[in-house]
Amino acid sequence: MPSDSEVDLGMSFEQQFDIVNFLRESTNKEIENEAAYFRTSPNIIFLPGGFQFVRHVRGYFSMGSVVLAWAYNSYIIPKLVLFPLWNDGYLSWFPVFAFCFLAFATGSLLFRSISSDPGRIPFDTRPTSADKMNWTHCQRCLIQRPLKSHHCSKCQRCVRKMDHHCPWVNNCIGEDNQWLFLLLVFYGSLLSLFGLTVDILYFYVFPKCLSCPRDSFFFVHQQFLMYGVFISGCGLLFVCSTQTITQSANIILDKTTVESLIFARKRLPDRPTDDSTSYQKFRIVCGPGPVWRWFNPFRRKRWKANFVYQQHQEV
Ligand SMILES: [Zn+2]
Ligand SMILES: [Zn+2]
Repeated sequence: MPSDSEVDLGMSFEQQFDIVNFLRESTNKEIENEAAYFRTSPNIIFLPGGFQFVRHVRGYFSMGSVVLAWAYNSYIIPKLVLFPLWNDGYLSWFPVFAFCFLAFATGSLLFRSISSDPGRIPFDTRPTSADKMNWTHCQRCLIQRPLKSHHCSKCQRCVRKMDHHCPWVNNCIGEDNQWLFLLLVFYGSLLSLFGLTVDILYFYVFPKCLSCPRDSFFFVHQQFLMYGVFISGCGLLFVCSTQTITQSANIILDKTTVESLIFARKRLPDRPTDDSTSYQKFRIVCGPGPVWRWFNPFRRKRWKANFVYQQHQEV
């Protein structure tokens, strides 16, 4: 009588052994083929100047809607309200300049967030002997990676301290570009709030433009176009303000959106513990220097993480 663990398949032991070996080799081959596929990085388009774009069709639509909403607000509000009122002498130069500055800053941050490297881990990365215990293995790229790294199915790459893959910028948010994303959503909130305020003032407070050509397309359809500003402004404000709050809370609570979603809280021994202040946690993300510099929308990244948290090096 065969025991429970032995099943008579009508085959010799050698035949069963060959089948098991064949299955094991096919599975290994499949894993290696998949890893080789990822290693060619078919989903990342690398351009000169360090720009990287993610090839993802659904992401193009969501990213395109944000770019359109930004462009629409940035063009229509100065064109229909701010410049005509300034020309007529109802408005000083300052609000006109402030809006144009916010629009330009948000646009440049949007482009930089779309094309930045979130901290994709090179395929030839190896942990130092000190790091070995804390690193994990990605079963899809077959690489070693630091804790809190995550494999993004959209980018098909592992990203250090990955927060989430944001469809609105069609890019991952990770250790190297979270500061940029935080600036983007902060300036995006300010821009949309400013635009909505101008929109409401246009309908209820501001006088009609005297010097505007009444028969031009824009001034014939200005009421309709300003309703469009209100709708796109509300959408932008919702997306940007919720992300500003979520990202700030993640930094203060020392967790990523991915961790919140999969309920996995992993910590590195050398990462900030609960006794580190919120200011210290923000410094790790936003970099060294005085706080006012964190708000400079045109600043360049002056430090890199170099795979070890809290050991950012000045470049
Ligand atoms: Zn991976
Ligand atoms: Zn991604």
